[in-house]
Amino acid sequence: MEPVQSTLKKWMRENDNFQENYKKIKSDVLNDPEIKEFLSLHPSITKKEIEKNLIKLYEYKSQSKQCDRCTSLGGCKNMLQGYSPILHVENNEIHLSYEKCHTRIADEKQKQQEKLIRSLYMPKEILDATIDDLIHDDTERNDAIRELIQFIGNAEKGIPRKGIYFYGPFGVGKTYFLGALANKLKEFNISSTLIYMPEFVREIKSSFKDDSINEKIDYFKKADVLMLDDIGAESLSAWFRDEILGSILQYRMMERLPVFFTSNYDLKQLEGQLATTRTGVENVKAGRIIERIKQVSSDVPIYGENRRQ
Ligand code: ADP
Ligand code: MG
Repeated sequence: MEPVQSTLKKWMRENDNFQENYKKIKSDVLNDPEIKEFLSLHPSITKKEIEKNLIKLYEYKSQSKQCDRCTSLGGCKNMLQGYSPILHVENNEIHLSYEKCHTRIADEKQKQQEKLIRSLYMPKEILDATIDDLIHDDTERNDAIRELIQFIGNAEKGIPRKGIYFYGPFGVGKTYFLGALANKLKEFNISSTLIYMPEFVREIKSSFKDDSINEKIDYFKKADVLMLDDIGAESLSAWFRDEILGSILQYRMMERLPVFFTSNYDLKQLEGQLATTRTGVENVKAGRIIERIKQVSSDVPIYGENRRQ
């Protein structure tokens, strides 16, 4: 008999503990301010229903609500990372469900926005550039900044049809302007494709090998905002000038899609630069490119000190 008795006693003791635990959990749950508020908003819920759903209520109580107990998404304490519990009532029954928390939503939005800048061969400092840094910093480049701010204002309503052709000496921050703009446009879900001209030429040439050339050209034709950095830095072949650059600009002109450029040359100088290729001097063809550049952008000089150390 002994073993049976002791087993029974043990069971009673544990059951006592169980009863006590249960009571404690129940009182904790029912005294939780948020649960109290929830129940007071739904007076039709019966005691029996509360009793039946004590575990759900306990789960609700134990979870962080909209990040109130977490500092980051990685540090989320909830069973489902990045999800916050909500209680609701249907037909007088208590239901527990989960919704994405603010931090998770913000994180997803940021990841989505990062995808909006397609940049090829751009230094990190350019990709981190911000409009605020530009504005704080000087008066010499006011005109250029004003044009940029105007573009941004228009971009809130949709993609404007004209970009800007920024020209000026080496090191004044022309490329930095493009980076800052691309970062700002992300906020309106406008994507930018930012490419350094000499690399653009290499990229297109290398795509002969894998037959992706048409796909690539199409990509540059259709990008929301195309940014060509340092046009004129390298002399283009007649083929690249007319068949690639010419056709991309032609398409964007017809579709009213903006293009941004940076250059050390003003448009007149660029025209001379584009006219001269290994196959000779072709002023008419260069003039045609300049006409298209004028259709897709307005030219704005940038002056100032050389910021390169
Ligand atoms: P450019 O394209 O006119 O030759 P960059 O845009 O490359 O000049 O700018 C030259 C350097 O100065 C870069 O290192 C850039 O990051 C930095 N720079 C330019 N403008 C700013 C600015 N407003 N605030 C901080 N750094 C800047
Ligand atoms: Mg530059």
